[in-house]
Amino acid sequence: MSKLSRLECSAACGAAPRDPDRVQHLCACGAPLLARYALDAATGRRMRDSLRDRPPTMWRYREALPPSDDDGPVTLGEGFTPLAHARRLGAAVGMDRLYVKDESANPTNSFKARGLSAAVTVARRLGATTVSVPSAGNAANAAAAYASRAGLSARVFMPRDVKTPFIRECELYGAEVTLVDGLITDAGRVAAETGGPLGWYDVSTLKEPYRVEGKKTMAYEIAEQLGWEWPDWMIYPTGGGTGIVGMWKACAELEALGWMPAAARRPRMVSVQAEGCAPIVRAFHDGAERAAPWEQARTSADGLRVPRAIGDFLILRAVRESGGTAVAVSDSAMIAAMREIGAAEGISSAPEGGATLVALRALLARGTIAPSDRVVLFNTGGALKYLDLLGVQ
Ligand SMILES: *Cc1c(COP(=O)(O)O)cnc(C)c1O
Repeated sequence: MSKLSRLECSAACGAAPRDPDRVQHLCACGAPLLARYALDAATGRRMRDSLRDRPPTMWRYREALPPSDDDGPVTLGEGFTPLAHARRLGAAVGMDRLYVKDESANPTNSFKARGLSAAVTVARRLGATTVSVPSAGNAANAAAAYASRAGLSARVFMPRDVKTPFIRECELYGAEVTLVDGLITDAGRVAAETGGPLGWYDVSTLKEPYRVEGKKTMAYEIAEQLGWEWPDWMIYPTGGGTGIVGMWKACAELEALGWMPAAARRPRMVSVQAEGCAPIVRAFHDGAERAAPWEQARTSADGLRVPRAIGDFLILRAVRESGGTAVAVSDSAMIAAMREIGAAEGISSAPEGGATLVALRALLARGTIAPSDRVVLFNTGGALKYLDLLGVQ
């Protein structure tokens, strides 16, 4: 069913492609590996004909996702989330064609479910018994849930100051939680030091190739939900970058499948970060190919508190190749935007989701985005785990 053929170095270092039937993490050169599929127009036609009979989850695009074992994908119903036409929010910013991709509707309340569904599916197929992940919160919850669903053990490593609901939810799914002094990068170091010698299967962002594959399905869904047209802009809150990297990869795959004309203008990607941790925004405006680590990273949007991303060059490439841009926004504006999205549309948004609305306003004000453009905001998670932010004025 899956058309996965090989894993390639994302930095094109010249190393031979890797075999996806074996456990693979990074390329020997240290860059992430990316999955490549044998996708062509004939496959695209067959898939399109059967889509209407397939379940409304991300696995409806299974030819373009990694293979599972005989028990099928490890799924909790992730994906095919609503793409809400946000008419009132649109009116508030002077737009007719504003949409919100509401990822809070996923299992564990964030889009991290997609990536972990794909990664844990592969981990089980390749015989893993324990998965481990460093996380700012949401990835840990998703890893814990999908490991439990798969019958695997989960070990999660989070910064000590992570909000309590993230810890309790991991425990709810039976995961073992370790709190680490510092940021997600420190949690990553401790996870690797602890799990490496024990043979745990590490599902850190972009250190295995399949979380990107799960997240790319957001772009497949948007194309399908808009009747096989692209929006003009996608505004995406960026931490480790799996979402942007995956969706940019999906644009090429949809062309290979013949679902989108190769001549169609692909969506412009906007990377949004917090003013207190904006390594990608700074590198974008400096014209740099890689992002220097951000010192003293601070933001209450936990998913954006990523001072250094291993896939920085891939994020920057996606933003530049798409003709997009990068914007930093303040925490107070994000939190106000959570309330605005909730009050206008009935959508529960995480601060990261709020950040996309703030970025939209900034880009409309600068004239970068035109009021007549079709824009998709990514509400990457729900508000429930961040309620403490709403109690503070
Ligand atoms: C992880 C996370 C992000 C950042 O996602 P990436 O795809 O890793 O850049 C944004 N929002 C929320 C709610 C998250 O949990």
